[in-house]
Amino acid sequence: MSTSSPKSMDAIMALCKRRGFIFQASDIYGGINGFWDYGPLGAQLKKNLRDAWWQDMILNPCWGRKGPNGDRVKCVPLETCIIQHPKVWEASGHVGGFNDPMVDCKETKGRYRYDHVQVYVPESGDPSDKPVFAYVGDQPSEAKQKKKAEKTFGAIKSVLLSSIPQPWTRVIGPDADKPGTLTEPRMFNLMFDTITGAIRDESNKVYLRPETAQGVFLHFKNVADTSRVKIPFGIGNTGRSFRNEVTPRNFTFRSREFEQAELEFFCHPDESVAWYQFWRDFRMEWWKTMGLAGENLILREHDKNELSHYSQGTSDVEYRFPFTAPGFGELEGIAHRGNYDLTQHAKHSGSKLEYFDTDRGELLPNGAKKGERYIPHCIEPAAGLDRGALALICEGYTKDESRPSPEFLKLHPRIAPIKAAVFPLVAKDGMPEVGEKLHAELFRKFGHSGFIEFDEKQSIGKRYARMDEGGCPFCFTIDGDTLTDQTVTCRDRDSGAQQRIPISKVSEFLSEKLGM
Ligand code: ATP
Repeated sequence: MSTSSPKSMDAIMALCKRRGFIFQASDIYGGINGFWDYGPLGAQLKKNLRDAWWQDMILNPCWGRKGPNGDRVKCVPLETCIIQHPKVWEASGHVGGFNDPMVDCKETKGRYRYDHVQVYVPESGDPSDKPVFAYVGDQPSEAKQKKKAEKTFGAIKSVLLSSIPQPWTRVIGPDADKPGTLTEPRMFNLMFDTITGAIRDESNKVYLRPETAQGVFLHFKNVADTSRVKIPFGIGNTGRSFRNEVTPRNFTFRSREFEQAELEFFCHPDESVAWYQFWRDFRMEWWKTMGLAGENLILREHDKNELSHYSQGTSDVEYRFPFTAPGFGELEGIAHRGNYDLTQHAKHSGSKLEYFDTDRGELLPNGAKKGERYIPHCIEPAAGLDRGALALICEGYTKDESRPSPEFLKLHPRIAPIKAAVFPLVAKDGMPEVGEKLHAELFRKFGHSGFIEFDEKQSIGKRYARMDEGGCPFCFTIDGDTLTDQTVTCRDRDSGAQQRIPISKVSEFLSEKLGM
């Protein structure tokens, strides 16, 4: 994708709806802001992404690689509840600190994240008492506000509203016509709350988790005591998280309900920086293997002044989405969290969350180690599966007017929701029967990871076009020749090229191409 002409988000969203990848939640009631559902192809695509994460992070972490300690990386899974004891979120800092500043517009009733609002000011000099034109990047009002600002100031530049002295009465809100309609910023807690039990009072208030990580910290001791894992090791989990985002936008990128895949990797404090670097690099490499290799993917190391007090490093894997271009949006954060979370939960719960490491400490006369007691440090690669799926769709979206479908999805075969399609050229002359047999064989072998389509209706061009839009990497067509020479046409989605291969070799061919 060239940075100067990003792909059209409208076209991508239209394809997602048309082909059943993503639908607006509560669509027939007009939708609900910040919530998205996945259609048949989207649900399978997201499952494939989740499965790939599970496979490469939990079952066979880092593809069997050794970590900085010289041993194979070890990880185990966990599944925890969306609702936990409310004190969990006090300990984690979410009740007190998980706030975003928001401003409201009294004229338009619009609501904006204060730290996302930008204003146009003169390129040089002071705007004095002239109005400043607020906007939020990539919103329809941006172009309108820019025009007005240019008319007032001539050459303009854009800065964050929060970075200039508060000119509240002079600000023209992003969608407003007159100045002074924005309220001052107010802090807004992002956690959804609800009530447990029959009595609806404050004492029964609980929260929907804003991240999956905390459930892991709560069970660190249980897992260490009951599984045959020794530090260093990771505990991973995937699941829904909820944040009452002030301004959900950019399709699924910023939703109020979304899915995370998070690993908490526990290690000795002395090894934590090496593990942080290891995970940061592995996670970047992993996203590349999902099909995001290229200039649209970057690893951004946070500046020292961006870090939390307990962190010795944080990096984001960022993708250049069409709506962030030429900038980037976060797909995953990899954070060195020190021993902050375990220490907080130990303090608030009164439980000891230390680890006794029998592989450390001085050597005793009997040849054993004395052991060392410590609170482990934690490295957290925290990925978003919805942002991941969206990045894969955006990256795969390709336009080519010369093809049967002018738009198609170049999805990585591992992630593609449809793995293959079998097409009898016509529904007669024994072709459907041969096709059914091939379909059954491919389904047995590859059906656990996606659809194997079978379609004998419509022109072959239309059938190819539908598969292209669904991101199916290979189609196999049974025609008159198949019945005499036992070969089929194999069509490659990306090149559109066709070749004949023996029907007996289709499964082997697909196995090699899909890497499974
Ligand atoms: P942002 O700065 O964009 O709000 P964050 O830094 O708060 O994100 P984390 O708390 O690090 O995000 O969460 C880990 C991952 O969860 C993110 O990298 C992202 O992929 C995903 N995620 C977080 N918030 C949302 C959301 N509102 N909608 C979809 N995915 C999200």
